[in-house]
Amino acid sequence: MTNLRIGHGYDVHRLVEDRALVLGGVEIPWKLGLLGHSDADVLTHAVMDALSGAARLGDIGKLFPDTDPAYKGISSMKLLARVGSLLQEKGFAVVNIDATLLAQAPKVGPYRAEMENRIAAALDMDPERVNVKATTEEGLGFTGDSSGMAAHAVVLLEKVN
Ligand code: MG
Repeated sequence: MTNLRIGHGYDVHRLVEDRALVLGGVEIPWKLGLLGHSDADVLTHAVMDALSGAARLGDIGKLFPDTDPAYKGISSMKLLARVGSLLQEKGFAVVNIDATLLAQAPKVGPYRAEMENRIAAALDMDPERVNVKATTEEGLGFTGDSSGMAAHAVVLLEKVN
């Protein structure tokens, strides 16, 4: 039996005025930001859900309920680090992460490397094993008309002890 575990995560947040836009732990200057109980970092949430799924920890809604005032406005990087600790406790190491942001605007290319570095740092892993990419959806749907952003992530874990 293999010691590898795959996980998938998906998340959506609405875009609104007067909110910071935080993606992969990086604050990006933009006229709109993502709405949510935490900092609403949709990319990091998809990554956390993928990690939780692979380790059979359920999902981030179960780990960090949005009814809990402790998580109001919290940086998702802190939550990601907590997921990393839970993985360690269960004996898992992260092999790699591949995440895709679905957003019409702004262009996030200049911030990709920093997002990869921050995600890797929160999980205490090599940034060479973290990939962040982005796509528009050709103006179609809720991501295309900028009413929201979505993100997908897949991860591979290895049971090391
Ligand atoms: Mg979310």
